Amino acid sequence: MSMRILITEKDHLHEDSVEMLRKKGFELEFAESDLSGARLEDCDALFVRTYTKVDRSVLDKARNLKAVIRAGVGLDNIDVEECEKRGIKVYHSPGSNANAVASHTVALTLAVLKRIAKADKHVRDGKWDREEFIAHEMDDKVIGIIGFGAIGRLVAKKFSGFDVEFLAYDPYLSKEQIEGAEEIRGKGNRIRKVEDIHELIRESDIMTIHVPLMDETRHLIGEKEFGMMKEHAIIINTSRGGVIDEKAMVECLKKERIYGAGLDVFEEEPPVNSGLLELHNVILTPHTAAMTDNAHRNMSVQAVESFLKDFKA
Ligand code: NAD
Repeated sequence: MSMRILITEKDHLHEDSVEMLRKKGFELEFAESDLSGARLEDCDALFVRTYTKVDRSVLDKARNLKAVIRAGVGLDNIDVEECEKRGIKVYHSPGSNANAVASHTVALTLAVLKRIAKADKHVRDGKWDREEFIAHEMDDKVIGIIGFGAIGRLVAKKFSGFDVEFLAYDPYLSKEQIEGAEEIRGKGNRIRKVEDIHELIRESDIMTIHVPLMDETRHLIGEKEFGMMKEHAIIINTSRGGVIDEKAMVECLKKERIYGAGLDVFEEEPPVNSGLLELHNVILTPHTAAMTDNAHRNMSVQAVESFLKDFKA
C-alpha cells in the first residue's frame, strides 16, 4: 500500500509539486485548511501552505504521521518541537521566496515614502494638488534591518543602489557575518551590526523586519519601541504580523507619531477587524510578498524535493 498524503490549501500550492507526488505513486487526498472532515488518522504525510495549523491536537489525531511538508519558509504554523518529539520529519523551503519578499519590501518602502496609493486615488478623484505630495527621498537614510537572514540580506543588497547606510540586528550572526556582506560593501554602502535592538530603532529612518515568528519575537515591536522611533521614520513588515503589537502600531500611526507603515502581514489575516484599515498613512498588501511566479513554484517544489529525498511511495 502506498503512502497517503493529505494536501490542504491546494489552490495555493504550485500544481507541479502535486504532480511530482502523484507521479511518484503517492496516494493523494485533499482537505480544507482547517482540516474539517479530514481523515487524519490514516494519513502518512501532510502537505500544507500557510494557514493550516499543525498543532498538538492535529498530531494527536494523525497517529500515523511521518512527515509534514510546508510549502514556504516560516514554520510558525507547525509545532516543530512536538513533531521532533514524535519522530515526525518537517520539510520546508528555506530561501525559496527571498528574492520576491525582498523586492516587495522595497516596493512597500517606496510606496510609503512617496505616498503612492494616496497619489493614485488623488488622480482618479480628478484632483491635481501636487504640493500635497512633497515626499521623503530614499537617499541619506539609515535603514535598520531586524533579522539578517536570507530576506534581510537581500533587502540590503537591493537597497544598495541608493546612497544609504545600514544597521542590522541579528543576535544569531557574528559581526563578520553581517559587516562582511560583500554584496553590500561592494557597492560602497556601510553596514553595522548593532547589539541592542533599541539602538537600531532609535537611529533608523526606515525599519524593516525579517525575523521568524517565535515566542522570542512575538510583539518584538510594541508601544515602548514605537515610542523610540524617529518622527519621520517608517516601519515595514513582510515577516509575520505577530512580530508587531498591532494595537500599539495603530495608536502610533493614528497620532502620526511616525510617518507611516508598509505591511504585508497582520496579527489576524485578513485584518478585517484591524484599526489599520481606517488609516491613511499605511500601505497594506494581502500577504502577497512571496506571490511571484518564480517564488510560488519554488516554495512548493523545493519542499517536495526535500521530502522525496527521504520518502518513497
Ligand atoms: P531566515 O531564517 O533566512 O532568516 C531569519 C533571520 O532572523 C536569521 O538570520 C535569524 O538569526 C534571525 N533572527 C531570529 N531570531 C531573531 C531575533 N530575536 N532578533 C533578530 N533576528 C533574529 O528566514 P528568511 O527567509 O529571511 O525569512 C524571514 C521570515 O520572513 C520567515 O520566518 C517568515 O516568517 C517571513 N516570510 C514572510 C513571507 C511573506 O509572504 N510575507 C514570505 C517568506 C518569509
